[in-house]
Amino acid sequence: MAIEFDGLKEKTLVLVKPDAIQRGLIGKIVDRFETKGLKLVGVKMMALDEALLREHYAHLADKPFFTSLAKFMQGSPVIAMCWEGLEVVNAVRLLCGITKAREAEAGSIRGDYAMSVSCNVVHASDNVGNAKREVSRFFKEDELHDYAKSEYNHVYAEDER
Ligand code: UDP
Ligand code: MG
Repeated sequence: MAIEFDGLKEKTLVLVKPDAIQRGLIGKIVDRFETKGLKLVGVKMMALDEALLREHYAHLADKPFFTSLAKFMQGSPVIAMCWEGLEVVNAVRLLCGITKAREAEAGSIRGDYAMSVSCNVVHASDNVGNAKREVSRFFKEDELHDYAKSEYNHVYAEDER
């Protein structure tokens, strides 16, 4: 069965990066998504190998900072999470804030927890097409879970469910 991405089942990939792991920010970061009303449908700790990183950051492969970015992302395992919800890709990007963390909006995750361009604590898929590719790249189908969340009766209005 293919992974569902429509409506309430839209999914996005979030990585808690090595800087956040070292700084003890896992719980705080997970809390932002949970409190927002998103549903966690997949989570695991994993080390990123060269091949996965090359695929994941293919759009940056020819940048001068790619080697240091790859080294940073391999400094420790990351936490990979798949979050689900209505228009979740956009919602999660807004929660994360812009790449250059010291200029990210206060109240966003990067705005509140980071100062660097590289060490910006989280990755989030930047559009629905990439979210589909990234979720499939990091999670096997049987690592994603489909379950009812009673909170949805209050997180979404009837016409949104
Ligand atoms: N990055 C970097 N230097 C740069 C631009 C990006 O080290 O000048 C890193 C940074 O960790 C960023 C990641 O590469 O989060 C991916 O870059 P992208 O432009 O996709 O930013 P994002 O989507 O993460 O905001
Ligand atoms: Mg990106």
